Amino acid sequence: MIYRAAYVLPMNDCVFKNGEVLVRDGIIHEVGEGLSKSHPDEPVVNLGKCALLPGFVNAHSHVEYTSSRNTVDALNLWDWIDAVGFNRNRRPEPETCRLSALLGAAELAMSGVTCVGDSSFTGLSAEALDFVGLRGITYLEVFGQSAGDDYARLFNRVVDKTCEIQAERSVRIKVGISPHSVYTSNRGLLELCAQACEERDIPVSIHLAETQAEIDYCLNGSGFIAEWRRRLGYEPMVAGMKPTVYLHATGLLRPRVCLAHCVWLTSSEIELIAGSGAGVAHCPRSNAYLGVGVAPVVELISAGAQVGLGTDSAGSSMRLDFFEEIRFALGFQRARAEDASVMAAKDALRTATLGGARALGLDDQIGTLESGKRADMVAIDISDVLPAENIWLAVLSRSPSDVRFVYVDGAEVVKDGLLTSLDVNALKTELRGRLGVG
Ligand SMILES: [Zn+2]
Repeated sequence: MIYRAAYVLPMNDCVFKNGEVLVRDGIIHEVGEGLSKSHPDEPVVNLGKCALLPGFVNAHSHVEYTSSRNTVDALNLWDWIDAVGFNRNRRPEPETCRLSALLGAAELAMSGVTCVGDSSFTGLSAEALDFVGLRGITYLEVFGQSAGDDYARLFNRVVDKTCEIQAERSVRIKVGISPHSVYTSNRGLLELCAQACEERDIPVSIHLAETQAEIDYCLNGSGFIAEWRRRLGYEPMVAGMKPTVYLHATGLLRPRVCLAHCVWLTSSEIELIAGSGAGVAHCPRSNAYLGVGVAPVVELISAGAQVGLGTDSAGSSMRLDFFEEIRFALGFQRARAEDASVMAAKDALRTATLGGARALGLDDQIGTLESGKRADMVAIDISDVLPAENIWLAVLSRSPSDVRFVYVDGAEVVKDGLLTSLDVNALKTELRGRLGVG
């Protein structure tokens, strides 16, 4: 099958006007111009006035928290977790989590996302991503401190669960582990995760250096997070070093590990991350709305770190709108640097595609439209773009309503702007019903 579009933007320095992509068995064979002439027998899908790009990669989210959208306002991270996070006494019914995860996966797909790195407390995100037709890694979230000295047993249970969930899912979905953070997981658990990542190739994700309060906690056992944890009955686990340095000491700063946030970093920590092979998921809107700061993304990228973008959950970012995420990333980096030249629209789109693929360790399969990679693509309607517009800005200024087609392995996940797997309005009605809203 040949896909033809007004623009093909493979995100590898090429731009093809009236470009074509030849896909066979879900794999990209050729990208360029005039392929329908050199392959006259190949059927052609004419996408018309669309820009065809690699699908966006959402490197950090929590789709099962979609139903917590707009439930709390103006709370700092620790109070936000307290109000929104699942805990022993306040965990939604599995069916509510399932519908919430499905809605999150559906909204991401309609936003042009083809691959998701999702941290999931219940593991239901794997089923949701799979059902909607996306690719992704579901990281089973674990909070080791609550297990005390019994953390190894907790860890083994989680590893068993990764195997169980993996066995039920398609090859598009990988299951990994996410120790939540250095302030909720004890050192032993972090070391077990590092070992599992290295020896069993289990992908790992962790929230890191999100707030100044996390730095205070890790260094001195003081500050807002330490006070919040104490209120819950947990004594601070003082590392006596910055979170990034501490993570390095546990062995978890390594390839196949995706670090969410990384807002509070010194230049030596930036170098440490860049040299480690770990990925970074930058979540600009979540960081802004939770008042934690703006991550040094330009510095991380210049140091050679693999940086992608993440929406975090709808509970902190409101809309699972990847175009908005990319625009915030670009705007905040220019504002932070007081220099508009630090990130061009093309750079931001590259971070949203290839950057995310690298951050999740999947760039051998996805992230660009190139021969040999999976046919994960998004076709964005640019029919109302005026002739003088810069194509990168034109794409960046679209919204989910302009997403016409989304393909994963060449299969239609979104067709003519609608999901092929489920009826989103019916899903929302069902979820509202479960939450007691008519
Ligand atoms: Zn998160």
